[in-house]
Amino acid sequence: MTADRIDGKAFAEGLRERIAAGVAPFLAATGRRPGLAVVLVGDDPASQVYVGSKHKATVEAGMLSFEHRLAAETPEADLIALVERLNADESVDGILVQLPLPKHMRESAVIEAIDPDKDVDGFHIVNAGRLATGLPGLVPCTPLGCMMMLEDRLGRDLSGKSAVVIGRSNIVGKPMAQLLLAANATVTVAHSRTADLPAVVRAADIVVAAVGRAEMVRGDWLKPGAVVIDVGINRIAAPERGEGKTRLVGDVAYAEALETASAVTPVPGGVGPMTIAVLLRNTLVAAHRRAGLPAPE
Ligand code: NDP
Repeated sequence: MTADRIDGKAFAEGLRERIAAGVAPFLAATGRRPGLAVVLVGDDPASQVYVGSKHKATVEAGMLSFEHRLAAETPEADLIALVERLNADESVDGILVQLPLPKHMRESAVIEAIDPDKDVDGFHIVNAGRLATGLPGLVPCTPLGCMMMLEDRLGRDLSGKSAVVIGRSNIVGKPMAQLLLAANATVTVAHSRTADLPAVVRAADIVVAAVGRAEMVRGDWLKPGAVVIDVGINRIAAPERGEGKTRLVGDVAYAEALETASAVTPVPGGVGPMTIAVLLRNTLVAAHRRAGLPAPE
């Protein structure tokens, strides 16, 4: 058996088209476009690439993009003052502060300064609490993107299905587990202290790997027919491509997983492209809620 490759790129393109189609009715109803403010502190090259991609995608979806670039040595109080101005700015529906922040800043203090109803990354404790208690809020983009791909494959109700999430970070593992639980899956959260991880994974119909260890999950760890979502992004040496060359792999040994699973997300081209698409979705949802309009799905 060879599993299906879940095409995250195509899925994300479809989502972005639906979001772009949702902007016109919002504009007609409110006279303005949804706006996303992205704040970048310092000149981390990876963060610059992410912020550039977010800006491009926001504009392509027909939304307003506000970029704020601050010097690495900016005091934390100045960043929080900017966040507060954006909280009060009626044209801004979503605020994203690109992480990581320079060492002298407390990420938690900055995130908690964001108005939870504009917190399109979904990292504010109010949004974590809303997710945990089943209230409408804003959900972190990567796990929500994973959930959308799972729903597409398995439907919205995961009653009777067992799921394992490997990883318990606040930005991926924990919210992923909450989403699966809300969809009625029976959820196990595994982490670095879990005993006999292969046996835990082998019991699962759904596997979400969010660890950051190249190809850790082997094909023979998987239950035949499992659906596998690989969140991990790991850069490894690729001498076959030439000296000093590298390539990206996930947390799952992809070729092995294809032999046992029923569907697997590739890396790259799986979860990654969904993250920005869901950011746009969260911005559109936040804009509707702030305008008192029913939020799109
Ligand atoms: P973190 O480093 O915050 O968390 C990693 C988790 O994996 C921890 O809970 C850790 O356990 C667990 N872990 C580490 N080693 C093992 C092990 N040997 N066995 C079992 N569990 C282990 O990472 P993130 O959640 O932020 O990210 C995870 C991966 O997803 C990374 O590769 C990251 O690059 C990628 N990512 C991809 C995104 C995308 O858009 N596709 C977005 C965000 C992340 P413990 O808690 O015990 O330390």
